[in-house]
Amino acid sequence: MTSANEYDLVVIGAGSGGVRLARTSAAMGAKVAIVESADLGGTCVNVGCVPKKLFVYASHVREEIEDAAGYGFSVPSDQIGFDWPTLVSNKNREIERLNGIYGRLLDNAHVTLVRGQASLSDGQTVRVGETVLSTDRIAIATGSWPWVPDIPGREHLLSSNEMFYLDELPERAVVWGGGYIAVEFAGILAGLGVETTLIYRGDLFLRGFDYDVRTFVADEVRKKGVNLLFETNIEAVSRVADHHYEVSLSDGTSLQTGLVMAATGRRPLTDGLNLEAAGVELDDQGYIRTDGNFRTSATSVYALGDVIGTPQLTPVALAQAMTLSRHLYADGQGSMDYRNIPTAVFCQPNIGTVGLTEEEAREECASVRIYRTDFKPMKHTLTGRDERTFMKLVVDDASDRVVGAHMVGPEAGEMMQGIGVALKAGATKATFDETIGIHPTSAEEFVTMREVSSY
Ligand code: FAD
Repeated sequence: MTSANEYDLVVIGAGSGGVRLARTSAAMGAKVAIVESADLGGTCVNVGCVPKKLFVYASHVREEIEDAAGYGFSVPSDQIGFDWPTLVSNKNREIERLNGIYGRLLDNAHVTLVRGQASLSDGQTVRVGETVLSTDRIAIATGSWPWVPDIPGREHLLSSNEMFYLDELPERAVVWGGGYIAVEFAGILAGLGVETTLIYRGDLFLRGFDYDVRTFVADEVRKKGVNLLFETNIEAVSRVADHHYEVSLSDGTSLQTGLVMAATGRRPLTDGLNLEAAGVELDDQGYIRTDGNFRTSATSVYALGDVIGTPQLTPVALAQAMTLSRHLYADGQGSMDYRNIPTAVFCQPNIGTVGLTEEEAREECASVRIYRTDFKPMKHTLTGRDERTFMKLVVDDASDRVVGAHMVGPEAGEMMQGIGVALKAGATKATFDETIGIHPTSAEEFVTMREVSSY
């Protein structure tokens, strides 16, 4: 690769997609620089998947201790202590360790790291403060940012970014929103002993997930003590005193709370990039418009990850990065396939899902067979805890292919990874039935559901 430019590729954003793109492109022989304005690792490592999952682990501990009694262990409840600052500082230490690992990965791959806020001067020039980087190609992987509605008292609302760094936990909290981040944080707060209310303007949260899953999760989340207020919106928030807010609701009532988290959506992060200078166009929702090969409307500029409006998940950004680096610097083989992406929601209990919801399958397939089961997980036969597990298979009747699998229950995310492979391989219901179960597990239910629940 010879060029008058200093670099073959300048990547903007050292998050999930950007770091992977920089490393794989460098490994294929490209001379790469990456620009980052904040901490290495982006949303996932610093204020997303990783710290969230650590908090989720923490939020399960109290239940585990309570459940231990059924197994003969006794821990008096007045002896259960929990120290939030300890959790936050242990979490911070782990995140700093990961920041360091990301730095070393870039170093070892001989990628030049430039710290600062990048903007485009044209399609082949990136400016970072006083530094000017000339390059054959630019890749934008700047991610997304919380979007918070403009209501009176907006300044009192916390986004997920701030939730990871609270000084103290309040006695009561309000989570505003109906997406997976809202549901996960409601579970975290409730599990840590905070009296939690989730407020969502729609009639049921988790839009886009299978309807049975949504209703089942609502029941389970209520059992965990979260107060669910659907078809209700927040109209204003006012500060009464330190860590004390009054939340005015659309039904004319109000709530007193110690914090209000707005998990009300995310917007593509293109602030300050000066995209117009390179002729990079946005779509009507502000995402960077790209073609199937991640090329923007400017021929030398590419974009990937949360900023292009594809499913906002770390493994999606990683897969896009590998596809793009192969396209630019290797055989060009492979393209993104957005069907059958397995995902988890780390609410309590977890959701694991892959493929079509029943509602989507009814649109796509001439006829479907639905298999459902719900049961008390074996562990809770001794703990007495009133928690149930739900599983569902959606089958295209004509081909017998399993087109969707859904679960609510402990470790649903762990389980769904394997089911995802099966769906990707085109497994039929007959293949599921022929598969021998692992006993005694919840997972074996996925291969023993014989009775059609509905057509
Ligand atoms: P990011 O990882 O956000 O990286 C973008 C980087 O660009 C950032 O470091 C930013 O500082 C930098 N940047 C932005 N503008 C500039 C600029 N002008 N100059 C220099 N640098 C810039 N996904 C999952 O798969 N599983 C989960 O469990 C999960 N949980 C989540 C929980 C939360 C609370 C949130 C918010 C997200 C979660 N996600 C999860 C989503 C996941 O974090 C994102 O999909 C993923 O990080 C997107 O990667 P990206 O490379 O597109 O952007």
